[in-house]
Amino acid sequence: CKIDYQPPAELLRDRIILVTGAGDGIGRAAALAYAACGATVVLLGRTIAKLEKVYDEIEAQGSPQPAIFPLNFEGATLKDYHDMAETLDREFGRLDGVLHNAGILGRITPFEQYNPELWEQVMQININGPIWMTQALLPLLKASPDASVVFTSSSVGRKGRAYWGAYAVSKFATEGFVEVLADEVEHLGTLRVNSLNPGATRTQMRKTAYPGEDPMALRSPEEIMPTYLWLMGPDSRGYSGERFDAQPPKPA
Ligand code: NDP
Repeated sequence: CKIDYQPPAELLRDRIILVTGAGDGIGRAAALAYAACGATVVLLGRTIAKLEKVYDEIEAQGSPQPAIFPLNFEGATLKDYHDMAETLDREFGRLDGVLHNAGILGRITPFEQYNPELWEQVMQININGPIWMTQALLPLLKASPDASVVFTSSSVGRKGRAYWGAYAVSKFATEGFVEVLADEVEHLGTLRVNSLNPGATRTQMRKTAYPGEDPMALRSPEEIMPTYLWLMGPDSRGYSGERFDAQPPKPA
């Protein structure tokens, strides 16, 4: 956990960084934080109005002009991912970072009652879509002299918990895929792949999962950005195939 990390102002200068689910919650905060540190951020998400709002906020803070890439992982095809890679290649020629942040909770419900269509949808959005997008983006990531791919995990992706169903399984798969891919690209020496568990954070998803909780007792997305910045920037070089936490563990 790097909650005390203080990023240099120009940490991500001249880097091209794609953030999925950039319109809200943690992804929005990460897009703003990366841009504030000099990155050109590609804002990917399914609700264009939200992406446009983040775009305006990035411009208003005087950061490099971002780009918007509308994409819904639910219906996206391999062709969409390859078209996307082609557009990014034309525009930038490389990619220095990807934050895989988009995700849905599905339902917290006993497995016996879990709807199979919803299960598939969660797996599609949380893991399968991001995996095929990553495959399409690999040539661009390999074209960078120092690239970081960060997948978002969760505490239920490390220790299963009753009723968390497809969400937990998708996060276990995320952590597994990170280890596989990190091992495969290790020889390149220029591409690292890690997972990051944000920990309980004040967002809509958390509110849906824990409706009775006081949101103000939680850290805001902005407060957990130090680890997001550390992992995206050059200070985390040499770390790959590892799992990180954006918040200190709760005292026992
Ligand atoms: P939010 O629900 O606030 O934000 C999720 C983002 O993902 C939104 O921008 C949403 O877009 C986008 N998204 C959802 N479905 C799709 C889709 N089909 N295609 C493209 N984009 C999509 O959640 P958080 O910010 O809380 O979560 C971010 C990540 O952190 C997730 O991976 C989550 O699992 C993880 N996490 C969060 C924790 C927390 O306490 N908040 C704890 C542990 C892990 P739109 O706004 O348009 O719906």
